[in-house]
Parts: sequence; structure tokens; C-alpha cells
Amino acid sequence: MREFEYQALPGRVVFGAGAARTRLAAEVERLGASRVLLVAGERDAALVRELVAPFADRVAGTFSGIRQHVPLAVAEQARGLAGSVAADAVLSVGGGSTTGTAKAIALSTGLPVIAVPTTYSGSEVTPIWGLTENDRKTTGTDPVVLPRSVVYDPELTVSLPADLSAASGLNAMAHCVEAFWAPRRNPISALIAEEGIRALASGLPGVVADGGDLDGRAELLYGSYLAGAALAVAGTGLHHKICHVLGGAYDLPHAQTHAVMLPHVLAFNAPGAPDAARRIGRALGAADDPAGALHALASRLPVPRSLRELGLRDDRLDDAAALIHGIVPADNPTPVDAASLRALLQAAWTGAPLD
Ligand code: NAD
Repeated sequence: MREFEYQALPGRVVFGAGAARTRLAAEVERLGASRVLLVAGERDAALVRELVAPFADRVAGTFSGIRQHVPLAVAEQARGLAGSVAADAVLSVGGGSTTGTAKAIALSTGLPVIAVPTTYSGSEVTPIWGLTENDRKTTGTDPVVLPRSVVYDPELTVSLPADLSAASGLNAMAHCVEAFWAPRRNPISALIAEEGIRALASGLPGVVADGGDLDGRAELLYGSYLAGAALAVAGTGLHHKICHVLGGAYDLPHAQTHAVMLPHVLAFNAPGAPDAARRIGRALGAADDPAGALHALASRLPVPRSLRELGLRDDRLDDAAALIHGIVPADNPTPVDAASLRALLQAAWTGAPLD
């Protein structure tokens, strides 16, 4: 018998090539904002000047001190600026680190956020915030940080280099795949995730071959929106736990660690979740071999294929397995014990598919 809970999230999405240039002013107007704090890295300074030109009289200040994983000190500087310019809204333009900074402001001030993402992190449609203090990342969920409005413009992602596009796209793929066995999974998030996998798999090869492929860029950005939406509703599971430990304890890069681990976690969990595996495989164009299809896709992309390539020493694998074992989700579809977890990490370390 079908039984589920589904908590729909609010939030408005505007999607289209050129939308950041033509439709952002209307989103600011919808909020009735007259003192907007811009949050954008130095890299995007010229772009942002152009985007806000139609409503420059409503811009009260700019915060550009973006740092990965939002150190608390950075969040406090940004919050201080929001207060000193009497901001009544925050507009972020950038990747997950920039969106995360805007969310940190919203968390303590309640200010509404408009997000214009330039990567495939999906953070802009989740109520999840993250802050780092003394090398420890804390995350939480609060509806106040969920952007009120998101403007997706594939043109803004054309500058994302092939390697970052691939790693970020596979990070989005991980949100979709894990949505099938995450704690709050439900039929709606599965629908969203399946379409997200299809869109990401169809967009990635073309974008890597030609960064200016706007149709491919649109597929990837659409897929990353769906990935964020699936993550926001369903949550995360074993794969994200593994990546969190590897990133936190061994300083491995965020998106690349996702890219390496995902085919291995999928191979590990597929036998315990046959319906999910069939749907994931169907979206990847190979219903009977989802992990093989994901390995094949990743092998065509400029992403590292092993934990060894990411610089993890093999004498760390025992410790890593022990750390992860302590936080394995209780209802992971394939039972996890110390030996199977160690074998999973070994496979990801060498890059060889699990037997
Ligand atoms: P990022 O924002 O750190 O960006 C990576 C690099 O790409 C940066 O150097 C940035 O300047 C550059 N960049 C961004 N857009 C570009 C573009 N269009 N062209 C050229 N360069 C560009 O990385 P990310 O992968 O977008 O985000 C990662 C962060 O987001 C992590 O901290 C992760 O934990 C967080 N995240 C949060 C959620 C959530 O729901 N809260 C979800 C996913 C990721």
C-alpha cells in the first residue's frame, strides 16, 4: 500500500537564457526591495554591475569576500554590512559558496534572498545552511534561508570551465541519485530526481565538449535545479555522509569527491534498492546497469576517477571507514558493515568498479 509524506517548499523560479539580464529587476520589484545587498565574488564584479544596471538605484551595498564553506568570520562580516547599509533584501550571484553566504545573512537577519546561481550546486532551492568554524562545518535547515526567488540563466554558466562543469554536474547527479534512498524520500521527490538524472546525463557530454553549448547548459542548469529540489525534500544518505567525512577529515575537494564516489555508492546500494536502481538506470539510458552507465558517463568527463587521484593516501582508508561507519544511515538499502564499507572505499580509491 502506498504511504508517504511530502512537504512542498515555497519559492519562485524564473528560468531562461538571458533571464538574469531581463527579468531580475522584476524579481526585486516583486519583493518590494529598495535597499538590496549584493553578494557576489570579485570574479563576477563586471557581470553583476551589468545585471543590476536596471535597478542600480536600489542597490545599497556589495559584499564580495566569498570563501568556500562560509567561514563564520565571513558570515559575520556580511551580516555586519547588511546591518550597516540597512539592507531589506539580499541578491546573490555565484556558486554554492556565494549562495551559502547569502543564506548565512538570512539565517540571522531574516532578510529575503534572491539567488542567481552560476554553478550546478542546487543550494539555491534548499533550506539548508552551512557555516564553518575552526575547520568544522555545521549545517542546519531553516526555512528562512530558502531563497524567495531564483533566476536561472544558462548564459551565466557558459564561463564555467569543463572540469568544474563536470564535477559540479556530477555533484548535482549525486543529489538526484541519493534522493531515491534518502530519509524523506517520497514519490514526488523520486519523479523530480529521475528527471534531474536524465537532464544532467544529457547535458554533461555536450557542455564538456563545447562550453558554449547553450542547449546543453540549459539541460544542466535545469537538472541542477531538480537536483536541489530533490535534495531539499528527500534529504541525503550514505553517499553524502561518505563525502562529508572525506572532505572534512582529509580536505578532499567537494564536487570532485562526489564525482569519484557516486558510481561506487550506486553500485553498492543498487542490489538493495532494485526499483530505485531501475529508475536511475532508465534515466541514464541503461535500466539494467545504472552503475555501469554512470561509470561510462564519468569516464567521458574531465573528472578525477579515484580517491587516489584526489590525493588520499591508502593508509587512511581504515580510519576513514571507521569514521564513516559511525554515521551510516540506519536504513541504507544495502546493509553496511565495516568490511563492506572498507571494500567500497578501496574500490573508490583505485577507481575500479565494485565486483
Ligand atoms: P563554489 O561556489 O565554491 O564555486 C567554485 C568555483 O567556481 C569558485 O572559484 C567560483 O568563483 C567559480 N565559479 C562559480 N561560477 C562560475 C562561472 N559561472 N564561471 C566560472 N567560474 C565560476 O562551488 P559550488 O560547487 O558551486 O558550491 C559548493 C558549496 O556549496 C559547498 O560549500 C557545498 O557544501 C555548498 N552546497 C550547499 C548546498 C545546500 O543545499 N546548502 C547544496 C549543494 C552545495
